[in-house]
Amino acid sequence: MRILLVEDDPLLGDGLQRALRNDHYTVDWITSGAQVEGALQHDHFDLVLLDLGLPGIDGMEALRRLRASSQPVPVLILSARDQLKDRVAGLDAGADDYLMKPFDMDELRARIRARLRRTVEPPQNQLIVGPLLIDSENFSVRQNDQPVNLSRREFVLLQALARQPGRVLTRDRLEQELYGWSEDVESNALEVHVHHLRKKLGADLIRTVRGVGYQLVVS
Ligand code: CA
Repeated sequence: MRILLVEDDPLLGDGLQRALRNDHYTVDWITSGAQVEGALQHDHFDLVLLDLGLPGIDGMEALRRLRASSQPVPVLILSARDQLKDRVAGLDAGADDYLMKPFDMDELRARIRARLRRTVEPPQNQLIVGPLLIDSENFSVRQNDQPVNLSRREFVLLQALARQPGRVLTRDRLEQELYGWSEDVESNALEVHVHHLRKKLGADLIRTVRGVGYQLVVS
């Protein structure tokens, strides 16, 4: 799951990015409203966390522009503006949810899960594919009911493949799921994670489609 964080406060932005990465999300952080549209044009995101008080184009204007261009990504506003009219205006402008600052991290986590459940994995947090049970609420994986220990990136990769079993996902798409912009990607990093997943889950589970990408094989 990939989240675009739009927050100009350096401390809050850094803290949120760290906390959410720790929660196994891939997080890209930008600090101005002007960057929002471009970011969403070039990369796939599952959710935008949007501050309203931003320099230049503020969050509300950025949101209006997104919706005017029919960009459907879910948006959760994080704002210190606590007036009822601000909340109503945010939701009217096309936000899916609104959380007032200061907020409790656990509440933000729950709202993110709720939002992603609705858009990405209806109706539950559990994905069952062949012998695999992938739980995106507590980031656990079981194979034939035995727990399997995966790193954060292995989990993210497996989850991306399992959401579309049988379908070939391109290298590009998988790398987008795995890495934010600021993270260095070794040219063979994806292969390394696939290699580890095959070691842990069996060699036949993930098929390489040469020159294209990877596919989760379900029998
Ligand atoms: Ca701000």
